[in-house]
Amino acid sequence: MLLYNSLTRTRQEFVPNVEGKVNMYTCGPTVYHYAHIGNLRSYIMEDVLEKYLRYVGYDVKRVMNITDVGHLTSDADTGEDKMLKGAKREKKTVLEIAKFYTDAFFSDCAKLNIKTPDVVAPATTCIDEFIKVIENLIEKGYAYEAGGNIYFDTSKLKQYYVFNDFKEEDLEVGVREGVEEDSNKRNKADFVLWFTKSKFDDQELKWESPWGIGYPGWHIECSCISMKHLGEYLDIHCGGIDNAFPHHTNEIAQSEAFVGHKWCNYWFHVHHLNTNNGKMSKSSGEFLTVSLLESKGYDPLVYRLFCLQSHYRKSLVFSYENLDNAAIAYKKLVARIATLLKGDLGEVDAEAFKLHRDAFCAALDNDMNTSLGVTALYDVLKANISPATKIALIDDFDKVLGLDLTKAAKKMIEEEKAAEEAVSDDPFIREIEEQIKARAEAKKAKNYALADEIRKALAEKGVTLIDTPQGTKYQIN
Ligand code: AMP
Ligand code: ZN
Repeated sequence: MLLYNSLTRTRQEFVPNVEGKVNMYTCGPTVYHYAHIGNLRSYIMEDVLEKYLRYVGYDVKRVMNITDVGHLTSDADTGEDKMLKGAKREKKTVLEIAKFYTDAFFSDCAKLNIKTPDVVAPATTCIDEFIKVIENLIEKGYAYEAGGNIYFDTSKLKQYYVFNDFKEEDLEVGVREGVEEDSNKRNKADFVLWFTKSKFDDQELKWESPWGIGYPGWHIECSCISMKHLGEYLDIHCGGIDNAFPHHTNEIAQSEAFVGHKWCNYWFHVHHLNTNNGKMSKSSGEFLTVSLLESKGYDPLVYRLFCLQSHYRKSLVFSYENLDNAAIAYKKLVARIATLLKGDLGEVDAEAFKLHRDAFCAALDNDMNTSLGVTALYDVLKANISPATKIALIDDFDKVLGLDLTKAAKKMIEEEKAAEEAVSDDPFIREIEEQIKARAEAKKAKNYALADEIRKALAEKGVTLIDTPQGTKYQIN
């Protein structure tokens, strides 16, 4: 399998550290608000990657943190704490906010068929681990205390900017207006591992530490939670592209300084979902959430299909027009599958199955080309193979695509049946339905004269009968 690795900036053959096993870490949400559908694009594509790895036989262990402390409004370790900001906005405690939005996040994930990782660890439950790693970094000379905070000393590394060719001067561009340079830092790129002092409102959640009562920085949590559950060698680290710098850059700095060797081999970054006005945001414009899409009548899986139709390394523009096209495509797919299920299925053709499965794998093996994967699904529907083979392939691909296609098709069939069987409140409709039944019985008894009479009588009342393979339908003129 070829996978693009942000670290080497090339597509590389994926080879895990231990044959047959994959250790995978995902940056979890900062639970101060609902996830927007941009955040969820990242989680959908990471879910497809995990499911594909399992599909081709890897034993995957996936870990995710929940950022319930330490993520500041600026990624440069400045600004207010996002959790505290959320708590103030809703007049609740930080822990109440964290619980509410963690539950909301997993409820959105369930609707989008995003599997819950094997381990989910809130940062607030791992404080001891953070302290241990920070102590070790100080001992080794990678971290220093200044003005009450503990900083990572980036000048101690051979190479700090691993993902891009940043120069130290470029960082100045990133310093936003109104954000003062932190004079405690020895080097501009240094970042906080542990805070005991903040010039912003103080943290609600604080812990004892060897450096005073305080709270951890954001970056240290992902390094520690990953190493705690996945050990010193990580195969894949995932996240949105905005996390590459400074968050993932800092994670690599700390983790490798701690373990003393290369830590993570593959960096999988999902590019952004944007709106026509630019970057998706929780604070400006329409706050696009799964619930909002549902309230507008969209099935969340339509959004999943919308994401799968594009490559994860291309930014994607969200518009309702584009989502409508995905909704139409989804409905058509489901209807075609429903038609297959209603007919005679026949036998599964193992050879044809393998041929189509190979085509699907070729698409996904090519740096997770999900849109070609969806094309492989359409090719199955078009192919000259038995319906049983088609259904088997659709179910097989859906282990990765997660679109619940046959489930939706079965639901469609049931709904159609229920609509047909529903006893109408309208006496005229009830009469038509009774006459249709009487005509069917007449035909069965070979009393064609009576059957014709019934048809004529209904025609005089403006009702046309249409005989179809699924039974007699009618039209009121
Ligand atoms: P956060 O809750 O802010 O920590 O972000 C959760 C995940 O969503 C991270 O992996 C981010 O990199 C990712 N992310 C943020 N904005 C977007 C976006 N517009 N499109 C795709 N992913 C995003
Ligand atoms: Zn992270």
